[in-house]
Amino acid sequence: MSLVIKGASLLGEQAGDLYVDDSGLLVEAAPSGAETIDADGLVALPGLVDLHTHLREPGREDAETILTGSQAAALGGYTAILAMANTSPVTDTAEAATRVWELGREAGLVHVQPVGAVTRGLGGEELAELGLMHRSRAGVTVFSDDGRCVHDARVMRRALEYVKAFGGVVSQHSQDPSLAGSAACCHEGELSGRLGLPGWPGIAEEVIVARDVMLARHTGSRVHVAHVSTAGSVEVLRWAKAQGIDVTAEVTPHHLLLTTDLLTGYDPTYKVNPPLRPQEDVDALRGALADGTIDAVATDHAPHARHDKEHAFVDAAFGMLGLETALGVVRMAMPDLSWTDVARVMSLTPARIAGLADQGRPLAPGSPAHVVLVDPDAAITVDRDASASLSRNNPWHGRHLTSRVVHTVYAGRVTVRDGALA
Ligand SMILES: [Zn+2]
Repeated sequence: MSLVIKGASLLGEQAGDLYVDDSGLLVEAAPSGAETIDADGLVALPGLVDLHTHLREPGREDAETILTGSQAAALGGYTAILAMANTSPVTDTAEAATRVWELGREAGLVHVQPVGAVTRGLGGEELAELGLMHRSRAGVTVFSDDGRCVHDARVMRRALEYVKAFGGVVSQHSQDPSLAGSAACCHEGELSGRLGLPGWPGIAEEVIVARDVMLARHTGSRVHVAHVSTAGSVEVLRWAKAQGIDVTAEVTPHHLLLTTDLLTGYDPTYKVNPPLRPQEDVDALRGALADGTIDAVATDHAPHARHDKEHAFVDAAFGMLGLETALGVVRMAMPDLSWTDVARVMSLTPARIAGLADQGRPLAPGSPAHVVLVDPDAAITVDRDASASLSRNNPWHGRHLTSRVVHTVYAGRVTVRDGALA
């Protein structure tokens, strides 16, 4: 199916038409017999790329499947998502990675790129089949034990050495377990004391970020810091980048907008790992994203079934939904970010970090037609029951956001039309 996308403002700048031929590529001239999408007043961006999505298949298909997660992603303007490895079973073999990749292709709404586990069973001790996962059809290049930290420095060093051979990257969930154990769930400070919740101090993140940038320097390999949440981590990243260390970092939409004081009501919707932080950290994260110290926005979309989330705060599962609201939240948190910068942090750079050559490409002839069309001025009120996700742990429910994803085009195919799945 060929397309003419008419009158969109490309990256928020000059208006132009985009032409898509029936092989799914952007081309110079309007193909004959093409369907026309009227994009007058809409901003066109390259399809968004999420470095950090939790799909729950295999193992917890009641919370999310690869299909429903792909639907949520398309509705959020994504054309590629990286599926984290902490499923059941864990994605720690070539076979498991290939299965996720295949199910993503069957769903056909976004590119689903499996993330491989760093260690077998996320156990933190023995390296998983890194090379075999890379050489499989899934072509895994990003490895992470996310949900858990690769806390053993020797294991982290070996993983970095191993992935260096094929240009891979280790995405680290930075949480020193001796400083923030598995029960830690509230930013450590006056509030955690008052609420009687186990504290999760910023230093537990910062010591791992500092250690890992030194390991990256020592090995000459590449490390990626998942969900950076503190001003101290930003300082370390700024220093490391100034030294030329090969490190990249992501921040979640929720850490750009929500603060720890939301926990006063003990609402488990706001329980997330790393925890929401005070305003000073939020300000530092925004500054770091704007100046490039933090490279990308990643959702950490973490669906949970009601019976895992609706508990007393300390017993509830960690995580919140994010795919469908990410763009609106980023616009709300950082209204001065240009559309070019939005494209950089939500598409171009994440595609480069993940090694997805097909994604995050300029809106120019020859590129695959992965395009999102956004109404920049639309006001939306989030309704958790309108979500494609199977889960409802949505911290944005009832909130007002700006910018609405109107159409999403994946490989030349319309996946979302007028805000609904096509
Ligand atoms: Zn994590």
